[in-house]
Amino acid sequence: MSRGRPLLAAVAVLGFASASLADSLAARREYVMGTIAEVRVHAVRPGADPERAIEAAMGEIHAVDRLMAVQRPDSDVSRLNRGAATRAVTVDHRVIEVLRASRRLSELTDGAFDVTVLPTVRAWGFLSGRPRRPRQAPRPAGYRHVRIDAAHDAVAFDQDDVGIDFGGIAKGYALDRARTAMLRHGVRSAYLDLGGNVATLGSAPDGGPWRLGIRHPRRPDALLGVLEVGEAAVSTSGDAERFVEDEQGRAGHVIDPLTGRPADALVSATVVAASATLADGLSTAAVVMGREAFADLLPRVGARAVLVELGHDGRPIPWIGPGLRLHTAPAPGRAPELPSHD
Ligand code: ADP
Ligand code: MG
Repeated sequence: MSRGRPLLAAVAVLGFASASLADSLAARREYVMGTIAEVRVHAVRPGADPERAIEAAMGEIHAVDRLMAVQRPDSDVSRLNRGAATRAVTVDHRVIEVLRASRRLSELTDGAFDVTVLPTVRAWGFLSGRPRRPRQAPRPAGYRHVRIDAAHDAVAFDQDDVGIDFGGIAKGYALDRARTAMLRHGVRSAYLDLGGNVATLGSAPDGGPWRLGIRHPRRPDALLGVLEVGEAAVSTSGDAERFVEDEQGRAGHVIDPLTGRPADALVSATVVAASATLADGLSTAAVVMGREAFADLLPRVGARAVLVELGHDGRPIPWIGPGLRLHTAPAPGRAPELPSHD
């Protein structure tokens, strides 16, 4: 059956992907990490089993969730937050890996990325599902107060007001693990989406680039444009999903670690990188850093980005960094199939 290039389909938080469910050998959607994970396999090595590949990928994501969710009292991060101010706490090596990646990101971004935001995030109610502007919120203690003993997989805090929240990086890390598991299982082409974080393997089913929609930061049903990427990871952060809105305006869930207040330099930042961990952390940092500082950083970290500010009239003003094009509309004759997700 010749169907030409697949229509744009399947809106995720990020937008839509160029490959629909119908083109896949196997696919699955599950609720995990507080969001929807969608994994689709489009091509495998001869003899490889796409179902098993998906099973392995989902397994990796669930494992990261069990270790790193602050909402779970028995997660490693919760054990850390309860105990590491009084003694060194031993954690899974994956937690050490994310802590080290987080530290590198903090150093690269001059502290804009900082996993010690938990007390602030809590004070704003962003973990409760019913966020509200607090009268006062604590400032994050700062990443320098987290001591990582990588040789012993142990972590200690040197202050007692440290609270770690991996919300800005864990989904990216889970995607990297899931993608690696897929490769191990012989997958050649796949699309993975974890609540606004996307990772791709190989090329799209039509042999071309993957086409990903970037959601309009103020209109949930509209797209700002379409990005074409090869094998890559793409992450979007901003105030479109989780925010407080009151007479003082909109406040999103990305915190400026310096002030302890929601960052408002950008309404949305989309970062394209080879690593999903990096893309996730960087997109969070971009919202804190703003366009100029983050644009300066891009060449040093090997990433590309679309950064969106809000104009005085409330309209989004996208800045499209080097190496990317934001296609404003789907190719002629291919209206987007804006997409029921089932
Ligand atoms: P999403 O979770 O919607 O994909 P992000 O990747 O931008 O969005 O992550 C936002 C989350 O990251 C917040 O809910 C919070 O848990 C955490 N966070 C907030 N501010 C920071 C920051 N400055 N550095 C690191 N993590 C942060
Ligand atoms: Mg992030």
